[in-house]
Amino acid sequence: MQKNEIYEAEITGMTNEGAGVCRIDGMAVFVPMTAVGDRLRVRIVKVLKNYAFGIIEELIQPADGRCEPDCPVFRQCGGCTYRHVTYETECQYKAQQVRDAFERIGGLSPEFEPILGGDARCGYRNKAQYPVAEQNGHLVCGFFAKHSHRVIPFTRCALQPELFGDVIEWLLPKLEAAGVTAYSEEQHTGELRHLYLRQGFHSGELMLCFVVRVSIQKKIEGIVQEIRKKFPMIVSITESLNPNRTNVILGKKLSVLAGKATITDTMCGNAVELSPLSFYQVNTAQAERLYAVGKSYAALTGSELLLDLYCGAGTIGLSMAREVRSLTGVEVIPEAVENARQNAAANGIGNAEFFCGDAGQIAKRLREQGTAPDVIVLDPPRKGCDQTTIEAAAGMQPQRIVMISCNPATAARDCKAFGELGYATERVRAVDLFPGTAHVECVVLMSRDKA
Ligand code: SAH
Repeated sequence: MQKNEIYEAEITGMTNEGAGVCRIDGMAVFVPMTAVGDRLRVRIVKVLKNYAFGIIEELIQPADGRCEPDCPVFRQCGGCTYRHVTYETECQYKAQQVRDAFERIGGLSPEFEPILGGDARCGYRNKAQYPVAEQNGHLVCGFFAKHSHRVIPFTRCALQPELFGDVIEWLLPKLEAAGVTAYSEEQHTGELRHLYLRQGFHSGELMLCFVVRVSIQKKIEGIVQEIRKKFPMIVSITESLNPNRTNVILGKKLSVLAGKATITDTMCGNAVELSPLSFYQVNTAQAERLYAVGKSYAALTGSELLLDLYCGAGTIGLSMAREVRSLTGVEVIPEAVENARQNAAANGIGNAEFFCGDAGQIAKRLREQGTAPDVIVLDPPRKGCDQTTIEAAAGMQPQRIVMISCNPATAARDCKAFGELGYATERVRAVDLFPGTAHVECVVLMSRDKA
């Protein structure tokens, strides 16, 4: 097989990244923007030892699941993967992806419950971070073109609420008139790096944060007052100073320009305080459903000791705290632990304690001290759990382990490891927190083998 050759093929599956897969002369060829069932002519663009990449040369017979993309920049932007297929089709792909992970990587055959899809594929995100650039003498906001840091001006991302676009479009010309300059990554000059928005899904409270290389506070004093009159839901305006040459968006130093330092929202009925730096699921409605599935798997009766590893600001554990005897949370980021403690106090939850540190190290110590949780909840980052955490968690011999994961592949790998330590993977449910994109979450119930 060689570059630029054209073959006829049919898409028979999807990769975890959302590219279609077809087989040509025994080679797997990955073709983006396709759908399972497409018959097409594929132009080969890159050949590696065991697989190749192609692009659509001609779509001979489109698959049933296809639809017209509802976003004008779908092909340029790397944000969404699935806007060319119906949401129903997307959910089928995601359910299959989770099933494949557990069967192939985990060698497991749990009961797969139907995927919990979102209500909408538009406007569901509660947070946006728009890179700012200067183009033709004007300030623009948008997204980075795929595989690059070139800003494509666009303020109406389909995943964001309309309100975000309204705020940005109102703001940009005012900032320009005030002489605010855009940060240049290449030269490390200029002021404004990103505009950051976050809105409480239930409360409606909106936060605006200016991420800057050097302070623009003086230049925008008037705008800050004006914008609160124009958009009264903005209750927090802050400036995040990030003077470093880095891809990390937010800096460490945050100053309040107007209103509060945080916004308030509710998550699973508990009030939460959010700063721009707090980790918070971007799709609140679906996160609440995700945690509800986790709670049902935990099957709490009120007498349990619950251990919540990788607890962030405590959201999951706190949503279960009223149904257990006591809750212990573990999280590595000190600010998140501080948030978790405040969230517990603010909601009158007195049976919770939180430790700051590595999940594995703290779990190991708890185990050595004889702590015996009835249920353990694990919500690790994409790379999954390490062996220390798995051994310590299994070693405490809880009745049930509930894993919540944003990466089905590492979740399956970790469940397999738990299997070797006496835990059977019983149920798995995919929950779609990121409609339109290639990401999918899953909840897993593991139980201690009766044997
Ligand atoms: N359960 C929380 C957060 C989940 S995200 C929620 O639903 O909101 C995963 C969390 O694991 C992050 O807060 C991250 O800071 C934390 N984390 C990452 N590595 C860790 C480690 N080694 N030990 C403890 N926590 C860790």
